[in-house]
Amino acid sequence: MVTRNSPVTVLPGVGKVKASAYAKLGIVTLGDLILHYPRAYENRAEIRELADARHDGKSALILTVGSDPKVVRLRSHKSFLKFKAFDDSGVCEITYFNQDYLKSVFPVGSIFRFWGKVERKGKRFLLSSPVAEPWAPGITLPPLCAVYRLTDGISLKQISKDVETALELLKNEELSDPLPRELIEKHHFLPLSVAEEHLHRPLGKDDLEEARRRLVYQEFFDFSLGMAFMRRKTTATTAPVCRVESLDPLLSLLPYRLTGAQERVISEIRADLAVPTPMSRMIVGDVGSGKTICAAAAVWMVVQNGRQAALMAPTEILARQHYADLSALFSRLGVRVALLLGATPAAEKRRIRTALVSKNPQDRVHLVIGTHALLSEGVEFAAPGLVVADEQHRFGARQRAALAEKGQNTHLLVMSATPIPRSLALILYGDLSLSKLDELPPGRQRVDTFVVDEIYRERLYEFMHRQLAEGGQIYVVCPAIEEEETAPDEVDFTGLFDSEPSKPPLKAAVTFAAELEKYFPETRVGFLHGKLKSVQKEAIMNSFVGGDIGILVSTTVIEVGVNVPNASLMIVENAERFGLSQLHQLRGRVGRGLRKSYCVLVTGGNSDRLGEHSKERLNVMRTTYDGFAIAEEDLKQRGPGDFLASSSAETVRQSGELSLRLGNLAQDALLLSEASQDAANLLAIDPALNNHPLLVDRITTVTGNLIS
Ligand code: ADP
Ligand code: MG
Repeated sequence: MVTRNSPVTVLPGVGKVKASAYAKLGIVTLGDLILHYPRAYENRAEIRELADARHDGKSALILTVGSDPKVVRLRSHKSFLKFKAFDDSGVCEITYFNQDYLKSVFPVGSIFRFWGKVERKGKRFLLSSPVAEPWAPGITLPPLCAVYRLTDGISLKQISKDVETALELLKNEELSDPLPRELIEKHHFLPLSVAEEHLHRPLGKDDLEEARRRLVYQEFFDFSLGMAFMRRKTTATTAPVCRVESLDPLLSLLPYRLTGAQERVISEIRADLAVPTPMSRMIVGDVGSGKTICAAAAVWMVVQNGRQAALMAPTEILARQHYADLSALFSRLGVRVALLLGATPAAEKRRIRTALVSKNPQDRVHLVIGTHALLSEGVEFAAPGLVVADEQHRFGARQRAALAEKGQNTHLLVMSATPIPRSLALILYGDLSLSKLDELPPGRQRVDTFVVDEIYRERLYEFMHRQLAEGGQIYVVCPAIEEEETAPDEVDFTGLFDSEPSKPPLKAAVTFAAELEKYFPETRVGFLHGKLKSVQKEAIMNSFVGGDIGILVSTTVIEVGVNVPNASLMIVENAERFGLSQLHQLRGRVGRGLRKSYCVLVTGGNSDRLGEHSKERLNVMRTTYDGFAIAEEDLKQRGPGDFLASSSAETVRQSGELSLRLGNLAQDALLLSEASQDAANLLAIDPALNNHPLLVDRITTVTGNLIS
């Protein structure tokens, strides 16, 4: 019996050769073939006359054959078939190359719907190798024709025919719908098998829309269930209850008042910590929104209850900065803080490790700060209570799993400065409660933003001279050190979802730094990149913080967290290579102090078309300062790639968790939230999906190795 698991070779005319071509598209079984969803559709419903055929693409025409097809032989065994066909508006010459066998297909007087690009040579119309479907008055031909991703050896005609046959063969297989009946009814969905058929062979636009709605929902639904299964495996069951009477002892030490948003987030954390269910919360807040103090409040609450905390930053630079800030604050409260990095001397490391596991609360280190290596290096705690991951980079589902596996029943707080679109947050962090820090502390200034190209180089340098003369400092960010190279602790953003046809040459940071040194003799130019040793990085960073270095050229290592209030100008070279959200983060590096600050985005291309396109895209940055809005726009412009690369989820991306077949996170956000809500409700009733074995099968395929 033929099933979805049957190999494509069960299809007539598909042998070894075709099968191996299909394999290149990831198609091995009939099921795979059906899941090879169309890439687009040709609209053949709109019939045009020859005289007003489209100039910019293909047209559908109803033509009557007017002359017997003739075979014209050329040298080198080539030939073409040629005949005339007409409608009321004119006569057209139709040719097919090397397809003599079509001769008998087009007898004089027969009528076809042709689909192809009509060319005009003076008064003559030409149509070369059009698709032809026999037509007669009263016959309805499919209005929309699916177009597929193809490969060598698989033509559109071939795959269309094979999909049709596969759908036909599987029709007899009683395919029960995996989705609970209530949900199908609630959403007025088509049965899954019907939706699949209509997606490949839609009867019309509405029909296609209905099919797509069902299948996108299904995709998100399966995914949500998969995430939930994984979460259940990875979350600890209990965590220490940590209650405090009042936060005043901590808050009274601050030189400012909390914003309303900070107060709200801190009380959310306080409520989480007051119960034995482990907290699993993410704070999303724009750069400078004051996330650190929220984390500090969480740490303090835990420490007040005799527990310990770990704070992990994505880079050593950031870890050091947190250490400087937090140890200053906590020393006044008797909270002992330690910094544990790769570069920490061995003896010091040993001392810290011992102090972390000390049985005697008097000697214990309460808060250890480091990079994510803290996790992998197996730091132990006498009384673990809280893990804080700052800038959630690379802190995705897997890391959470790693944490849970260590058997440390702790609360978890993840902080992100990348406001990610809601839809994406749901899908990536569906298992985290979300706290939004959507209010900046008072008095923050707007960073005026400009988009320029190379032509402005000289004026830009003048502007830089002026900033330096006024005592300001400048960041210059370049995409990568050398082309193709990305330092290990940076995020690889180059070209991930970049669909631009050709790329302007990168401003290689190395040569660029040298060039700037020449142009700016009045100051020191520092060069920071991911390949430097951490002591070198630290020395450069310190010189910049201290004002000794006036221009800091860097790759994206400074993207996250670093705070230099005196910096007044952010220049981003080859800005078109960055996602908007990333640019927003970079811009957040300036305007942190009293100086009026600026951000200049330099595009690599000149004023050619590509350059113009980039500028247009970047212009959003001039008018928008809301990180969440920018994130939504970024998602629309570039797809989820940037967020997956620059936020936690490298691992998610690599494991293919987010390779959606059909769903579009930007367009289908509503379906996503419905599907994830429905999935949660279903799991509440039937946690192991005992009544829905078909769903279990599906999510095992979707999330594959993650669940096992
Ligand atoms: P981020 O959210 O980017 O991590 P930080 O926590 O580093 O932001 O805060 C940025 C700066 O704002 C810090 O210097 C911090 O002391 C200051 N800050 C935080 N909250 C407030 C507030 N409510 N009022 C004034 N300044 C604040
Ligand atoms: Mg921060």
